[in-house]
Amino acid sequence: MANNTNNSPMMRPRFNFMWFWAAVAIIILGYSLFGEAEQRPVDGDWNLTRELVEKGYVERIRIMDRDQASVYLTQEGIEKLASDERFEGMPQTGAQVQFNTGGDVKNFEDKIAQAESVAAQNGVEAEPVSIKYEKTTKGWVDYLIDLLPWLLIIGVWLLFMRSMTRGAGGGAGGGIMNVGKARAQVFDKDKKQRVTFKDVAGLEEAKVEIMEIVDFLKKSDKYKALGAKIPKGALLVGPPGTGKTLLAKAVAGEADVPFLSISGSDFVEMFVGVGASRVRDLFEQAKQKAPCIVFIDEIDAIGRARGKNAGFSGNDERENTLNQLLTEMDGFQTNAGVIVLAATNRVDILDKALMRAGRFDRQIEVGLPDVKEREQIFGVHLRNLKLDEKLDRAFLAKQTPGFAGADIANVCNEAALIAARHDKKSISQEDFLNAIDRIVGGLERRNMPMTPTERRSTAIHEAGHATVMWRLKHCDPVLKVTIIPRGRSLGATWYLAEERVNMNVEHFMHKMAGLLGGRLSEQKLMDVVSTGAVNDLERTSKIAYSMVAYYGMSPAVGQISYYDSTGQRDTFTKPFSEQTALTIDREVRRLIDEAAALASEIIDRERDNIERLADMLIEKETIFAEDMESVLGKSSQQTSKEEIENATVKGATDRGDATDGPQEE
Ligand code: ADP
Repeated sequence: MANNTNNSPMMRPRFNFMWFWAAVAIIILGYSLFGEAEQRPVDGDWNLTRELVEKGYVERIRIMDRDQASVYLTQEGIEKLASDERFEGMPQTGAQVQFNTGGDVKNFEDKIAQAESVAAQNGVEAEPVSIKYEKTTKGWVDYLIDLLPWLLIIGVWLLFMRSMTRGAGGGAGGGIMNVGKARAQVFDKDKKQRVTFKDVAGLEEAKVEIMEIVDFLKKSDKYKALGAKIPKGALLVGPPGTGKTLLAKAVAGEADVPFLSISGSDFVEMFVGVGASRVRDLFEQAKQKAPCIVFIDEIDAIGRARGKNAGFSGNDERENTLNQLLTEMDGFQTNAGVIVLAATNRVDILDKALMRAGRFDRQIEVGLPDVKEREQIFGVHLRNLKLDEKLDRAFLAKQTPGFAGADIANVCNEAALIAARHDKKSISQEDFLNAIDRIVGGLERRNMPMTPTERRSTAIHEAGHATVMWRLKHCDPVLKVTIIPRGRSLGATWYLAEERVNMNVEHFMHKMAGLLGGRLSEQKLMDVVSTGAVNDLERTSKIAYSMVAYYGMSPAVGQISYYDSTGQRDTFTKPFSEQTALTIDREVRRLIDEAAALASEIIDRERDNIERLADMLIEKETIFAEDMESVLGKSSQQTSKEEIENATVKGATDRGDATDGPQEE
């Protein structure tokens, strides 16, 4: 409230030029409507004028442009006619009557002379009417008004052009004349805030590979001496947020060669031919700076495979751009000393011609980081944060399977925000865990209206998942279970996704059983079938389908994969017969049924335990692995891990020097 007393400066409406223009418009309008109305002469015709001349009331007549006649009356005439209703509203000064002479000047003068003689015959004493001819001369204002529409059209056109060309590349030198210029950003390696390899965690192989490319440029003689050709380009490929752009920036920071950076979308413009001309210009610039590196981010914007749906869209422009890029990279023109780096996360849709040897002949995979790399990425992003001393980076890395570098950067920032919201002096582990939960699951929705039954069925559902997963050794280890609604989910079982490179049938079966455990325990313990399991069912079905149709894991279908890694197959026709389709359906069903049987068996056995876990969940909302262990005992993952550890220790001693022999690579 206190603020309200002195906030008057905030309340004052800001002066707006719109008001100024509105006022000017109103004045002009008012003047033209009312101002001139009083001054307008009475509209007349020749007969009226003749009558006036015959009466001797006319002093002079002015004729503009041969036909616009303005009649000026004598003072006497004005007085006499004041009561005549035909002359109502007649102006006292200036012309009193106006009419059109029809353009015949000679005839008009004769007729006036006639009228004057009639007046003389009638004994009217009057001066002869003076007739003056004038031509309207245009003032500069008139010319301006004539030009106004043109000025307006040109203005709008210019504005349009400017806004169209501004989108591309930003930077200086916009305007229509420069539309065909590529506005690549040239990196200045002396910049203070430059990115170096220190800022890029993990990605060791990619770094080595990319530095080798820089080396090609810097010491090209060494390679040429042996007759080797310098590669023309390298493609950084990987999921979004894994640090492709960052890596390229780091190259710019580390390499001692000029670095031109541009985004694929910068080539795209509304005008035809602009993209190709920009590509040409980019390489022109690059050749002048050679040896140098050109980096094209998001190359899929122009590098998409050509001619796939040419019939549907006029994508000629993009194809021209791509063709130009292809020629620039490996055409007749040489571009010695220019290496092109490009980044994309859709390598599957790129044109094959782009990736053939001689163009982007190297592909550098920038994959999702593994647990060790994630720890290093945390290291990079935690550098500038004020952290609690007890923070365990390795633990955080374990908690974030499947996260890309960008997600981890996001977690760090979110954790800092959460800590700040709670007025903390430093960021604790708990803040990080909350941040991870929030990023994975969405916002907490504690106030979601839920009946006690719904809560219980959610608790039973989650307890079912957790128990089945706890008991199956190929399921991922359960970390915690919660029934706090988040985002679109009512509850969640958090597990530590093991990063396996290879999955076998048993892994898949256990995973499906774990997913089905929720719905089945609801069904068995509460006798309800709810919609809450839709996500589980979807995932289960996908797993089963991929087992049968992609991985050749069903004996009935055989060792066939209908997977199309190129993404080129049209979606309307299936690559198998109706009969096979039927077999696939049957096999999918069989696998899911088997997984469900596996889960059901566990649930039947653990009924009481599931109930106890559900009670715990309802009471505490979130339970952790320790709580689960107190109810269910050691998890089968834990037991099998211990078994493996014991076995390997034993095995190592048993096998003795087996590792000394020749190794398979
Ligand atoms: P993309 O692969 O989509 O080009 P970026 O390079 O733009 O991803 O990465 C986005 C952000 O993610 C970077 O600015 C950086 O903060 C973070 N990041 C990604 N990978 C790493 C990494 N390996 N090390 C450190 N930070 C990373």
